[in-house]
Amino acid sequence: MYEELIKYRDKLYTCNRSHCGFCQEGCLPYKLLGYEQYSSRGRMIVSRVLIERNIKIDENIVDIVFNCFLCGFCNAKCALYPTDIFTALRREINKAGLTPRPLIEVANNIVSSGNPYAFSREDRYKWTKDIQITTKSQSIYFPGCVYPYLQAKQTKTIYSLLAKTGIEISYIPEIDNCCGYPVYLTGDMEKFEAIAKKNYENWKRQGIKKIYTPCPGCYKTLAEIYPEFIENYDIEVYHAVLAIHDAYENGKISLQKKYQTITYHDPCDLTRFMRVIEEPRKLIEAISNEFIELDYHGYFAKCCGGGGLVVAYNPQLHLQASIHRAKEIESVGAEIVTTFCPTCLRTLRKGLKRIKAKTKLIDLGQLIFSSMQ
Ligand code: SF4
Ligand code: SF4
Repeated sequence: MYEELIKYRDKLYTCNRSHCGFCQEGCLPYKLLGYEQYSSRGRMIVSRVLIERNIKIDENIVDIVFNCFLCGFCNAKCALYPTDIFTALRREINKAGLTPRPLIEVANNIVSSGNPYAFSREDRYKWTKDIQITTKSQSIYFPGCVYPYLQAKQTKTIYSLLAKTGIEISYIPEIDNCCGYPVYLTGDMEKFEAIAKKNYENWKRQGIKKIYTPCPGCYKTLAEIYPEFIENYDIEVYHAVLAIHDAYENGKISLQKKYQTITYHDPCDLTRFMRVIEEPRKLIEAISNEFIELDYHGYFAKCCGGGGLVVAYNPQLHLQASIHRAKEIESVGAEIVTTFCPTCLRTLRKGLKRIKAKTKLIDLGQLIFSSMQ
């Protein structure tokens, strides 16, 4: 019983012995729901009880596990890297057939329609209307699902921006599908593996060698999770901000200081999991007169509330977290807050609207594009 979890036995005992609680400082479910079990330390105790006593998972345990953004703030504070354990917990819950219904629906939509919303294929390509798209090159644009379906304008802008960096970038509509990250978050590894392998086969058939994506979740999935499931995985994967930064540093694009004050919200997957911290900051400094850091930033940034599929499981907690982060953003008094993640953009928009913030939220790709000389 609990084969996934038992691998972490030593870490669980280390945590339970030290009981230090450093992980709790920036854990939003713990702050907002108020109970120990919703913190990293609490989930570690629950995991230990499961493997020690072999008790069955029940709805209380499911609730504890899925009220977690998998944001990794606890990883930043704790050498045990707790999110690996919380991902294993989701796998155990899936094996027990207890994955919450709304998350199963997300996974089923991805399998049947290639996106989490069950939207049409045609809608996925609407951002390509009115622009020239190349379909033949070894480097492809992989916009993910959230950008093209819900932020078509930004999707188009970022593609145009990448094209201006000198990369021979193409977009192949027929093979553009979800990366499967939301399925991974449900704990259904069988479905996730099938999606990953199908995507990889498609890319290999087209001779793809490099992928550029503007979505931090896709970036982490394609660069770090796929190699765990695909033998000899040989695709190079970059977040768009890396390519844009590279082009700026090498003089392929020039930028002007078009904005006064900008603050930046670090997307968890981009910053903490993929360690892309300096590049967006250098670009913001190039386009603004003043860059203001948030109190919790970089490796220690707080989640916006968009992670872990909490939006599907507990929309109220998702909203509360977004309001919490919006207040932190508003408190620094910047003219603009920016980020380079479609999920953070969507989530922060809700919180900023609720608090009637003066700070304007604008995608970093948009800001850079409009600052090009
Ligand atoms: S998860 Fe890490 S930081 Fe949190 S109580 Fe356990 S050992 Fe301490
Ligand atoms: S991943 Fe984030 S939400 Fe989950 S326990 Fe760690 S800090 Fe809390």
